[in-house]
Amino acid sequence: MELRVVPHPKLKRDYRGRRVRTTVDMENGWVRIPAGSLGVVDIQNQKGSWLLMDACGCCGVQARISGVDSSSIEFVEPIS
Ligand SMILES: [Zn+2]
Repeated sequence: MELRVVPHPKLKRDYRGRRVRTTVDMENGWVRIPAGSLGVVDIQNQKGSWLLMDACGCCGVQARISGVDSSSIEFVEPIS
């Protein structure tokens, strides 16, 4: 599916449920998520976004990462 990048929502509370792509490599104690990965903003709070990444195509594992800054994601929509 082809995607286009759209502007960040003006209000952070509108981030929730939106489809995003990471723009930088991210890492915490559990996972490493390369730049360009797709996911959804699950929760948005004062510490940033919680992302639930798409399931891996081979094993089904899904990464979740918290505290993501808005500068590390871009908002995407399918081109219809
Ligand atoms: Zn896998």
